[in-house]
Amino acid sequence: QSSFDAVPMAPTDPLFGLMAAYKADTHAKKVDLGVGAYRDDNAKPWVLPVVKKADAIMRDDPSLDHEYLPIAGLQSFTQAAARLILGRDSPAIADQRVSSVQTISGTGAVHLGAAFISKFYPRQQNQPVFLSNPTWANHQQIFSNVHLPTTTYPYYYPPTRGLDFDGFTEALRTAPEGSIVLLHACAHNPTGVDPTREQWVEIAKIMKANNLFPFFDCAYQGFASGDLDNDAWAVRHFVEQGFELCVAQSFSKNLGLYGERAGVFHFVSGSMERQKRIASQLAIIQRSEISNPPAYGARIADLAMNRPELFEEWKVNLRTMAGRIITCREQLVAKLRERGTPGDWSHIMKQIGMFSFTGLTEEQVKKLREEWHIYMTKNGRISMAGLNSHNIDYVATAIDKVVR
Ligand code: PLP
Repeated sequence: QSSFDAVPMAPTDPLFGLMAAYKADTHAKKVDLGVGAYRDDNAKPWVLPVVKKADAIMRDDPSLDHEYLPIAGLQSFTQAAARLILGRDSPAIADQRVSSVQTISGTGAVHLGAAFISKFYPRQQNQPVFLSNPTWANHQQIFSNVHLPTTTYPYYYPPTRGLDFDGFTEALRTAPEGSIVLLHACAHNPTGVDPTREQWVEIAKIMKANNLFPFFDCAYQGFASGDLDNDAWAVRHFVEQGFELCVAQSFSKNLGLYGERAGVFHFVSGSMERQKRIASQLAIIQRSEISNPPAYGARIADLAMNRPELFEEWKVNLRTMAGRIITCREQLVAKLRERGTPGDWSHIMKQIGMFSFTGLTEEQVKKLREEWHIYMTKNGRISMAGLNSHNIDYVATAIDKVVR
């Protein structure tokens, strides 16, 4: 007999189940297209050369110790992170309108923003936070954990395997005034479908007219196109339009620091005076939840951004990762065309970032797994980095066979 007898068993995380099944599979040609982490051409995790160099610098630094970081984290890191996403010449930074707090990576940044909104954002009648349909599997539960209800806006349009721009903008027009809208800054997870710049301009106009609050989740800056500025364009455009907004920034993918949990939450406010009050409250939430953030990943990212020669090297490393993924997209489409595979596969090339929504049905995904030992989530999402020169022919043949 226990007070906890009523705790129900939660369903296992579907991605975790997929990873376990892949691990247990003994087939020589098995392919993992599930995991959302970069892999090199030999299907191995890649420690970025810039990270190795930063790590060596740290090891040689006798002044480094294991003291606590400040509550808001390593300031040289969070300030460089603000410049990285908002731009070096951002007026918001010059006017001291940005509060930046180091977090437990992107997940912690989304959480800190959600906790702050839950505590301070005036919402009429329990107004929901708008999430794209579909979105990263964790968004809904991060918001509901802090008692913020969520709803969805149309995003993915299956017939084109692209953006449902009309549905999306209609939802923004009709959302209750003042609603919070979560936007993926680039490389939308899980679809790989991003608005064009013209579409972002339109989205910003509608959100401005309806006084909606943009909450950007930025987990793939530089990883998507290979260019840090290009991938930050949407966020910077919104700041230029005078929005107050927030950004959850992750260094998991673009620096390959997954397990080190390096991230930052930025709140861009309309005035320096308000910024100071917001920063003071963010610090209180942070203190009660984690006291102070972890140092190692932040120090690596700090060196990568603040040492000019390392920053240049990081940009080369980003182009290596993004370039390999873009090449895999081109090759997969070319190989499907070579095989005369039924269907138009050009969406794989148009989509961007870690993932592609292939359009494969649940039935086809099951066949790929059971008959070909190729693992992907049941919505047909593939992690592009799981492809490489050794398995891409095998995967193309398998897809060709299951769609016929
Ligand atoms: N947001 C999105 C859209 C993501 O895809 C991810 C990672 O997959 C994250 C946030 C957070 O990742 P992390 O907590 O490792 O930075």
